[in-house]
Amino acid sequence: MKVIEYLEKATETLISFEIIPPMRGRSAQEVYTILDQLIEFEPPFIDVTSHAADAYYVEQKDGSFKRYIKRKRPGTLGLCAGIKYRYKIEAVPHLLCRGFTREETEDMLIELNYLGIENLLAVRGDDPNYQKAINPDRSKNNYAIDLVRQVADMNRGRFQDDILDSAQTDFCIGVGGYPEKHEESPNLEADIRHLKEKIDAGAHYAVTQMFFDNQYFFDFEKKCRDAGITVPIIPGLKLLTKPYQMKSLPSNFHVNIPDTLVAAMTAADSETEAQQIGVEYLKKQAGELINAGVSCLHFYVMNDVHLVKEVVRSLK
Ligand code: FAD
Repeated sequence: MKVIEYLEKATETLISFEIIPPMRGRSAQEVYTILDQLIEFEPPFIDVTSHAADAYYVEQKDGSFKRYIKRKRPGTLGLCAGIKYRYKIEAVPHLLCRGFTREETEDMLIELNYLGIENLLAVRGDDPNYQKAINPDRSKNNYAIDLVRQVADMNRGRFQDDILDSAQTDFCIGVGGYPEKHEESPNLEADIRHLKEKIDAGAHYAVTQMFFDNQYFFDFEKKCRDAGITVPIIPGLKLLTKPYQMKSLPSNFHVNIPDTLVAAMTAADSETEAQQIGVEYLKKQAGELINAGVSCLHFYVMNDVHLVKEVVRSLK
């Protein structure tokens, strides 16, 4: 079933999760161990992130540096098949522009279609250190809207090459949104204009970047509605568990963390105390969003699954 159908039919706030594939060479069992713990919440869908190749510079014995290319976290497709057929839950693979050609994306979409995976989230990705050389007969998507258009084209039976007897796909497309604006955008209004373009190009719903002050979400949602965006906007939520995240998350994701939360987290005497501060904060944040009537809460799950469970249990 499609994510948009779940959202439209929901009579109470749905709970969904997002997981990250294990590092290259590690086992899918790591993810299954996490999923085994999340199914009690009956998530209608689970997202699996995607990762482009990256370059690493490793110092050699003679003091020089050698460049290595590594795709740290492959496995999105395989894990999505596992989610769909092992757990009977809809899987939402993330598809990226950066690091993938349109031809590779088309092949991925065909694989997803064969597997009966009907949902995907189309995001641009960030500039990896490693820029893959693109052969002259290959093309690429520059912005998420280009990727949305590619999927929407396939939903109309239009592929990269003219194919006489091509069959249409029928993907439900999600895209990213940024309550505190995307880091490259000059202002929130311009960013929302680009979000609207993605919706107009065929996206069915949006999921937001993490945020820690609900007011950002409420203001963003209102501005989106004022701009003519009518599709569901799902808030993305992240549990804070460590004091160092007070610096790393604003720097990596360009989001603000309220002063009171920063003060409490940095004053925590132990790891357990910091975790409990994060848990209590997220319970309150999620509860307020439910009271505001959001159709779904989307939790970014890392290794802190037992703590995320504590939060979600309190909401049920
Ligand atoms: P876009 O919508 O392409 O926007 C990027 C920037 O360009 C914005 O500033 C926008 O305003 C601007 N813009 C858009 N269109 C145009 C245009 N036509 N002309 C000029 N400017 C334009 N990253 C991963 O690597 N893997 C993942 O699995 C992943 N999952 C994510 C899930 C969610 C819910 C979100 C919110 C983000 C995710 N990301 C992921 C991160 C994402 O790839 C980055 O934030 C990326 O920098 C932007 O992606 P986007 O799809 O929002 O880009």
